This record gives sequence, structure tokens and C-alpha cells, in this order.
Amino acid sequence: MLAFLFQQCYSQSDKTKKTSMDKTQGLPDSSLVNRTNDEWKKLLPADVYYVARQKGTERPFTSKYELSKDIGTYYCAVCGNPLFRSDTKFDSGCGWPSFYEPISKTSIIYLKDNTLGMERTEVECGKCNSHLGHVFDDGPPPTGLRYCINGVVLDFKKADEARKKYDSSK
Ligand SMILES: [Zn+2]
Repeated sequence: MLAFLFQQCYSQSDKTKKTSMDKTQGLPDSSLVNRTNDEWKKLLPADVYYVARQKGTERPFTSKYELSKDIGTYYCAVCGNPLFRSDTKFDSGCGWPSFYEPISKTSIIYLKDNTLGMERTEVECGKCNSHLGHVFDDGPPPTGLRYCINGVVLDFKKADEARKKYDSSK
């Protein structure tokens, strides 16, 4: 069902522009990613765990951030890593918060995702390797990219809190 919904979002090809994404950038600190699933499960709210660590997808049109026009920065809800600025957010109509550019080259990492019979590029947090969503090449200028992100793994206002909680749990 969700695969079908994702597919509806594609206005063009779902092949991403690999050349514009440098896979050597943003490699995470390995000490942050060696948690077991049980450890993550204890640390995270259930909905965040499902998306961030089990690569789940939240139901479309359910995120409080989907239509938000608030100015500021979106952080990783797991570790507080800055991911996107609100001025790169746009209304894609897909049902998930969408951005055309990450905050920096190292803020996220890219992985090939061939699940669900589709060739997609998964995006993960560059700091803690949490699953965020996918990136497609049908976005607006100047990048032409559409970062389709699960709102549940974004944190707009409570980033400092998330970072403290994450750091103190190390
Ligand atoms: Zn993170």
C-alpha cells in the first residue's frame, strides 16, 4: 500500500542523480551506530524507532511538519543532527515533509534501496544512521531533488533536548 502511495508521488523517473550525491561524504562516527536494536528500542519512542531503525514509513498526510511554513531548522529527532533548513522546504503534495536540499553535504548519507520492486535512494542521518526517507529527482530548482522525509524523525523545536538525551545515553 505504501509502495503504491510512494509511486504516485513520482512525476518522472525515480532514478536519482547519483552524480550530485557524494557517497564519500558524511560517514557517521561508528561509535554512534553500533547500538543493538534492543538498545534503540529502549531509547526511542515507538513511532520513531519504527521509522528510524526499522526503515518504516509513516502514514502520508499525518506529519505536523508536512504543511508547516515555520522558519527554522529541522533536526534529526534521534540525535539532534541538523538536517534541513525551512527555506529549502516545499509543498510536494506527496504527504510527507519535502525539501530540495540538505543543510550540508555531511548532514545526510545516501544508500541504494532496491526494496519493494523499486530502484530508490534511501537517505539516512549522517550522524546516527537513522532512516529518514528517500530522495527523488523530481524536485524543484535549484537542485531538482526532492527529499521525501518522514516527519516523525524530524524535530523542529526540541532539537537541543534530543541532542542532550542522545549524548547522555552514550
Ligand atoms: Zn541522527
